[in-house]
Amino acid sequence: MEALRLDERNAKDFFEQYYGEFSKSLLDAWAVVDAQGRLVKCNMGLSKVTGLKSKEMLKAETFDHCIRLEVDGKGYSILQLVNMPAPGRLDEVSGSSEAHSYLNLIIGYFPFLGSDQKPFGAFLLFRDVTAETQLQGKYVDKSKQSVTDKLTSLFNRNYFDQAFPKLAEEAGLAPIGSVSAKIAVIMFDIDKFKSINDNYGHQAGDLIISRVASILKGSFRKSDIVCRYGGEEFLAILPGSGLEEAGKVAEKVRKKIELETYLWNDEAIPNSISIGVAAMAIGSESTDQAVARADAALYHAKHSGRNRVMIHRGGTSIEQVTNIGDIVVNVEAHRASIKPKKRVEDDTDSH
Ligand code: GH3
Ligand code: MG
Ligand code: MG
Repeated sequence: MEALRLDERNAKDFFEQYYGEFSKSLLDAWAVVDAQGRLVKCNMGLSKVTGLKSKEMLKAETFDHCIRLEVDGKGYSILQLVNMPAPGRLDEVSGSSEAHSYLNLIIGYFPFLGSDQKPFGAFLLFRDVTAETQLQGKYVDKSKQSVTDKLTSLFNRNYFDQAFPKLAEEAGLAPIGSVSAKIAVIMFDIDKFKSINDNYGHQAGDLIISRVASILKGSFRKSDIVCRYGGEEFLAILPGSGLEEAGKVAEKVRKKIELETYLWNDEAIPNSISIGVAAMAIGSESTDQAVARADAALYHAKHSGRNRVMIHRGGTSIEQVTNIGDIVVNVEAHRASIKPKKRVEDDTDSH
């Protein structure tokens, strides 16, 4: 729709002549402003939004003095709406006024254009959606909170428990033998974490958890899901990955975690992680059973010395991933460069 084109240059007269009657039926707040952005006519609804009486608003130098508007975090003048080339709608306007410290508005605008194409005013419709937006915001925050771990911002166990069965079901529906029919699960457990807490304090422990979480976050594909399962344990779901592929990723992550420098009061805390990997046997096991196999592999990793990746091949077959290559030199060099004052003791009990 095009803006009106008339020779009439008086916004108030023009509006009254053509829309006076019709405007009485509108439920939203509305205003008519002139070419300078001054209010020339409005309804009661507008007083509710601005907290000012009509008389006060009509006396104001411009309508911007009655309500402060912002779009994309920047101040927005009503003149910008008057100068719009065609009618339209601004969906996300925030504002503040005498009556409201915070407003969410949808503003419809209808510029009046003269035959010279110059604007001589505009009709503006204000819908106050503050309550709805806040309610929606709360809902989004709440639902996000319920699946997010506070310390790491990773997904939490709740989310894992919902997501894994859904993703496994999708894999089950994919053509047999296709990439989409694969799904792997990886379980991580920080080594001797209790000793880190005991030797360096709980806050140092939290720092290690957060840093490990960021490494995990940065190591997986967008389609993978990484969760903090609880304490110093993490789980990742890898849709589209088989056992070998997941094992390789896990080994990369293990190295990254070992190579990271975890500084606490100028002291480097040595840290490593043990990892168990299982690829779900779609159609013949449940997600719980796949997780239990990843856990069994992790248990083996702990008992065979920690800081390693074990893959579960089904049955009782569990193997270590030993694709160490060049990086082993770096790991050794890195280890040699770290001389902590207190060492985390290295006995081997269960995780
Ligand atoms: P293992 O190598 O066998 O896994 O030994 P571990 O010491 O890591 O295992 P264990 O399960 O005995 O210890 C885990 C510790 O993690 C115990 C608990 O106090 C601590 N912990 C759990 N959640 C948090 C947390 O959010 N922050 C900190 N700092 N510690 C935590
Ligand atoms: Mg542990
Ligand atoms: Mg543990």
